[in-house]
Amino acid sequence: MRFKDSLEKMILLAGRGIAALVCAQRLAHQGCSVTCYGFPRQEGPTVLLGHDTLALLRSLFPASDLTALGHPIQGRDVLWGDSPLTQLSAPACATPLSSLVNHLEPALLPSVTLSSDRPQSSSVALWQVDVTGRHAHLATQIAGATVNSFGQRCMVTIPVELKSGKCDRVSMESIPSGWMFLCPTSPHAGVLQVMLPQAPPQPERAIQIALSQSQLIAEQLLSIDPGAWRILPAAPQILTVLGSDRWLAVGAAACTFDPVCGDGIGQAIRSALLACAVLLSGSDQIPLTDALRHYHLRHRHTFAWHLRHVYNFYKPLLTQPTWFEELIKTHQFLSSYAAYNLLHQSQFAYQLKNLALEPNT
Ligand SMILES: Cc1cc2nc3c(=O)[nH]c(=O)nc-3n(C[C@H](O)[C@H](O)[C@H](O)COP(=O)(O)OP(=O)(O)OC[C@H]3O[C@@H](n4cnc5c(N)ncnc54)[C@H](O)[C@@H]3O)c2cc1C
Repeated sequence: MRFKDSLEKMILLAGRGIAALVCAQRLAHQGCSVTCYGFPRQEGPTVLLGHDTLALLRSLFPASDLTALGHPIQGRDVLWGDSPLTQLSAPACATPLSSLVNHLEPALLPSVTLSSDRPQSSSVALWQVDVTGRHAHLATQIAGATVNSFGQRCMVTIPVELKSGKCDRVSMESIPSGWMFLCPTSPHAGVLQVMLPQAPPQPERAIQIALSQSQLIAEQLLSIDPGAWRILPAAPQILTVLGSDRWLAVGAAACTFDPVCGDGIGQAIRSALLACAVLLSGSDQIPLTDALRHYHLRHRHTFAWHLRHVYNFYKPLLTQPTWFEELIKTHQFLSSYAAYNLLHQSQFAYQLKNLALEPNT
């Protein structure tokens, strides 16, 4: 039986994050019956959405008014390694991840069902899609896939009060402990994120040490709320197997980016769009096995480039033993034959054209 012959059958998405919403919207648009189950994440990070990501979201959710979302940002100040302060123009929008999801859910097509629980009828689903984020619950528990994590670093986040002034620019700086990111969320408040090589036993103390090392961010803060810290895992990772003919891992469940790149949401959306093209394939021209192979290769290729990019960013920290240890696996991978092949892969069997897979001629 070909998938195309059974579009009316149910596709079950485990997760209610951005990758889930994009998959649901696209599949519903193509006539599939889609159910997303789970809860929108309440404890997610504050994220910065750049121009391209916002444009992509606008095209996928035309019924949603994204101008009302979040706090407007105009640029980025970066103090990194030995380089002088760099000031970039980078229009963006800062929003808690949960607000983005809450904003988009009402703009889903009516044929998408949202449910907090896994539906009783889940066994009849033609496909199960794991969009549960970095823990990849479905893929690891049901399908036996394993997560290949490149370290154990984490981000300590804390709400802050800002001195009046630069509320439309984010700041980013490397410090001996790791790196810091300050994102205004209103004229007087923001979120401070401190990246450390592992979860600190005393987060308040780790934040104080980071601020004492800061040359750019500390001076912008009026106060911090020391008890309100949260720790979020932030190491890049990829699943060893991304899917089969019954299930597919998508978004951060398939591969998670290090937040230093600032493009995790963009990657989750691109992963979701490619996943939908795979789910809608299965013709004589594009057999499902080939589409799945392409899906796997595309993610591995993107991930290898991501690790290379990330490694270059972290180079100023390599003099610190804890960061050297944290990045050793990335270095070993980037020195491997497998990475060389992935980074030099320029031809793919398929390309996405109008959101559908087409053979590359
Ligand atoms: C500290 C930090 C800062 C970041 N900053 C940025 C940024 O500035 N810009 C940017 O673009 N990206 C940023 N990111 C990355 C971005 O948050 C992720 O790339 C993106 O959220 C991934 O989307 P997703 O839908 O794949 O996964 P998630 O957002 O993790 O969503 C997963 C969903 O699945 C649900 N779920 C989990 N388990 C289950 C289960 N068992 N059953 C059902 N549902 C389940 C969750 O509740 C959630 O709704 C940041 C990440 C971190 C950690």
